[in-house]
Amino acid sequence: MRTRTDIRNMIRPDLLELPGYVPIEPTDVLAARLGIAPEDVLKLDGNENPFGPSPKALAAVAAERNYHIYPDPDQRRVREALAAHLGTDARRIVCGLGSDDLIDLVLRAVTTPGDAVIDCPPTFGMYPFCAAVAGARVVQVPRLESFALDVAKVEELAAGANAIFIASPNNPTGNRLPHEDLERLLATGLLVVVDEAYIEFAGTQHSVVPLVPEHDNLVVLRTFSKWAGLAGLRAGYGVMAPALASVLMTIKQPYNLNVAAGVAMLAALEDAPLLDERACTIAGTRDRLAALLAGLGWITPYPSEANFILCRLDGIDALEVKERLAARGIFVRSFDTPALRNHLRISVGLERHNEPLVRALREIGAELGR
Ligand code: PMP
Repeated sequence: MRTRTDIRNMIRPDLLELPGYVPIEPTDVLAARLGIAPEDVLKLDGNENPFGPSPKALAAVAAERNYHIYPDPDQRRVREALAAHLGTDARRIVCGLGSDDLIDLVLRAVTTPGDAVIDCPPTFGMYPFCAAVAGARVVQVPRLESFALDVAKVEELAAGANAIFIASPNNPTGNRLPHEDLERLLATGLLVVVDEAYIEFAGTQHSVVPLVPEHDNLVVLRTFSKWAGLAGLRAGYGVMAPALASVLMTIKQPYNLNVAAGVAMLAALEDAPLLDERACTIAGTRDRLAALLAGLGWITPYPSEANFILCRLDGIDALEVKERLAARGIFVRSFDTPALRNHLRISVGLERHNEPLVRALREIGAELGR
């Protein structure tokens, strides 16, 4: 029974009920569970960069001496370097603890409790999670069977909502937001947040950052987690109208971009040609892996412009396959939701990882009668 002094009475009731975001587990935990060395884990469940960080970023973090000093709350050097990299104005940029931080900040800036935010599943789970934490109502507009957005439905509901979040390429489906769809979304007057966490694997010529100055209601999120292999450092940013950026700079935690992340971002930007080349290699490995997976006969890989491949499994249980892969030290993600029945999402590793992965899948297929 809940008494007056029960701590739960002091907590927002909606948060007591919140299911929470389901994060992926770190390599050492996965290895310990299997009793194998962490270097023997093939971690293909987190869409991380298999090349790791740029050598310049690692050297910069090691060389930095000012870890006893608070970082610049105005993030001046990094915002200016990003502005030069993107060909935009530093006043449009806000950096944070990964793009997750920006999702949270944008939602806190534009919603008051009860406001509606449109989410288009299957997509990244942080959008409805952060919306719920901000006290917003999440309105689901499921994607069509092709995983394209149901733009007509969004147009119908837009008047009653504040913002919409779209990942492009989308996680976990791998498809990009077509330009015509973006134009229609922007015309609704909603705040349109385009999350480009994986854009470097599609080609940055597809980025919509250049459209931001033309549309005050467009926010683009980017991250160093995927392209720059810095997921563990937490470094992301958003590009938006200066008036919104200024509010985000005011409401963020003052030191949300730590010294190590800041120097790593600057060094990674200097190493952009190498990181672009790696992204291109990963895209090539992805396309070869997709062909190998399709060759198994019981896996249908969806076309992907990101660093992962969504796979539909036919006549074989995805969770069972995931567990049998895990027993061999290979970790992938499984989905079993109304929109994604019996699916796996496989992150793209190095070229040399394709063969052991496909061999393990072939063995598991045979074990399960395929
Ligand atoms: N957006 C999408 C679509 C993602 O898949 C992810 C990471 N899984 C993120 C954002 C979060 O990235 P970050 O590490 O920058 O917080």
